[in-house]
Amino acid sequence: MGNHGYLQVAVIGAGPAGLFAAEALAGKGFGVALFNRDIKPGGLAEYGIFPDKLKLKNGLRNQFRTILQSENIVYLGNIHVSVDTCLAVQTLFDWGFNAVLITCGAQGTKSLHLPGEKLEGVIHAKDLVYYYNQLPPFASRNYKFGRRVAIVGGGNVMADVSHFLVKYTEVEEIVAVIRRGPAEVKFDKKEMIPIIAYLDQTKFDNEMARVSEEMRKIGQEPLGAIESILAAAHVASPKEREAHLSFRFLSSPKQILPNETQQKVIGIELEENQLVLSDGEVKAKATGKSVNLQCDNVIFAIGDRVLDELGLPMYKNEFSKARSPLFPINGQTFEIEDPDSGQNIQGIFIAGWLRNPSTGLVGTARKDGVYAAEAVGQYLAQKEELSGIDSDLLIQKLRDQGCVVVTKDLLPVLQMEEQIQADKAGLEEFKFSTNEEMLKILGLA
Ligand SMILES: Cc1cc2nc3c(=O)[nH]c(=O)nc-3n(C[C@H](O)[C@H](O)[C@H](O)COP(=O)(O)OP(=O)(O)OC[C@H]3O[C@@H](n4cnc5c(N)ncnc54)[C@H](O)[C@@H]3O)c2cc1C
Repeated sequence: MGNHGYLQVAVIGAGPAGLFAAEALAGKGFGVALFNRDIKPGGLAEYGIFPDKLKLKNGLRNQFRTILQSENIVYLGNIHVSVDTCLAVQTLFDWGFNAVLITCGAQGTKSLHLPGEKLEGVIHAKDLVYYYNQLPPFASRNYKFGRRVAIVGGGNVMADVSHFLVKYTEVEEIVAVIRRGPAEVKFDKKEMIPIIAYLDQTKFDNEMARVSEEMRKIGQEPLGAIESILAAAHVASPKEREAHLSFRFLSSPKQILPNETQQKVIGIELEENQLVLSDGEVKAKATGKSVNLQCDNVIFAIGDRVLDELGLPMYKNEFSKARSPLFPINGQTFEIEDPDSGQNIQGIFIAGWLRNPSTGLVGTARKDGVYAAEAVGQYLAQKEELSGIDSDLLIQKLRDQGCVVVTKDLLPVLQMEEQIQADKAGLEEFKFSTNEEMLKILGLA
């Protein structure tokens, strides 16, 4: 049954969590308005997953297109919801929406607040990932890389960024700086396939020799960690050029070292750690001993932070999650609470990387979106009567607020134009790097 354009639920963010939530809500018969900051849907599936994973990306794009075909879903791209833009969350309730599900992802970068973080050559992985995946406005940045790059972090994003550096730059040496030991690395075997051939075996052996005793002290067996780090070696992609990857374990950045003019990075001071067991968890404990590592760039791949732009209560790097959800799904909370009153905020729900920053792959975000849709459905089932807004009226109201709306009928136009550009340039894929170009093609500039 279609809603004939009558919308009851607003979903903010059309990444995997928002799209699959919209699909689930539409399947329950609700009319869904799906607001998205970016012109194109997909979030990190479009602008995060490594560009050459085209089979995965195209598969997801096809799923997203099918979802958007639902007559119960209205797509509103190029709409940045926040307290400072053309649309605020509260306005959605004023316009008649009964529930708002927020799935904006974790768009902020985490900072360790170290001296030197503002130096030229310091980069946050998220910005770089958006740059090489051509998300405006990051796509227009101009990153310069020197010969040697230190990446702080030991997860999949470190692996992806290393992949970018060996494939698309002339960087010769990459050092992954990891706070804990070889047994605590967080990357998956699959993500190491493109870069494991670049591992400098001698440096790796020396580094393992340096940290093995520390591992044994807490009962870890170095051989197991070596096998796990090298698990991708037998399926490694061949090296395409001369470059080296190495690891520096048990090391936390203390400061980024400037050149003489205090403008550029020339290195990073690392404090050495030991491993300690605390409540069954392996933790890093600073030893007070420091070493300097020379490098031309420092890339932080240490996770992301939820932005505080919607005017809703935050707790540390995320939204303030309701401790006693009224609509728990599988024992999890998809609601937020006001820390002052301790009350859950009525009608607002959260899912995906916004609920758990930098956690899990697309499949996890999908599940989260579907669960959140279930919670929204239970909340709405309690209401005696549902209000709503007609889709044409909604688009008119957005335009009255000064928003430039990209509706779903325009997405194929953009797709076709990008295909034409790709064919012309003999590329597998082409993306416009500014919103202005895209809006112009859509006749909206
Ligand atoms: C570098 C990297 C590589 C990855 N590689 C893989 C991989 O190979 N395979 C895999 O399965 N997973 C991968 N992932 C993980 C996957 O991308 C995430 O699990 C998933 O995208 C999270 O979905 P989400 O919808 O919660 O958030 P996001 O994907 O971040 O989507 C958020 C959406 O919200 C919109 N938005 C943000 N703020 C606002 C606002 N204020 N108003 C309106 N809209 C807003 C954005 O435009 C975006 O469309 C990778 C992640 C990263 C960072």
